[in-house]
Amino acid sequence: MRIVVSQLPDAGRTILVQGDWAIAAAKQALDAEPKQLSGTLTLERHLDMDDKEDGRVVVTGHIAVSASRECERCAEDLELVVDADVDLMYAPTVKDEEPEGDEVKREQEDDDDDILPVHEDDGWYQDDVLELGDVLCEAISLELGPRIVCVDVASCDRRTAELLASKGTSGNPGHPAFAKLKGLG
Ligand SMILES: [Zn+2]
Repeated sequence: MRIVVSQLPDAGRTILVQGDWAIAAAKQALDAEPKQLSGTLTLERHLDMDDKEDGRVVVTGHIAVSASRECERCAEDLELVVDADVDLMYAPTVKDEEPEGDEVKREQEDDDDDILPVHEDDGWYQDDVLELGDVLCEAISLELGPRIVCVDVASCDRRTAELLASKGTSGNPGHPAFAKLKGLG
């Protein structure tokens, strides 16, 4: 879903997380078909300290989504659930302008002194259009963490150990040193 930033009403715009765009975005983030998907995202133009618009867009709201996945360690089926508040910021990408020699250089040198209204976590939008699917995808991905594993770590460890053990016995006689140790017992 494409949001034209300059056409956002002053009071902001709230959009339900449903429909094809939302399902597609959730599927991309979860790497699985979402079983459940709901929530709202509210988009507002950001105002700076002087109540002036600075081009950034604030996205707040709540998302709830679930899907069936496999644990990346023990391959057990698990239910992936994301139920989280959303608070993201998107800044316009700087247009490609012809550099004007010294002036540009000076601006860059001054960067250290300026308090730039740019945060590390800011996302970007281009040509006045914010793709809401990308926003949703990012919001879900941020909640997932780097690996998808069982919530029950103890059981996951046990299954993973069993998995490794069963692989170990197939054709691998084990290290001779262990055989010696066994003999000692
Ligand atoms: Zn697991």
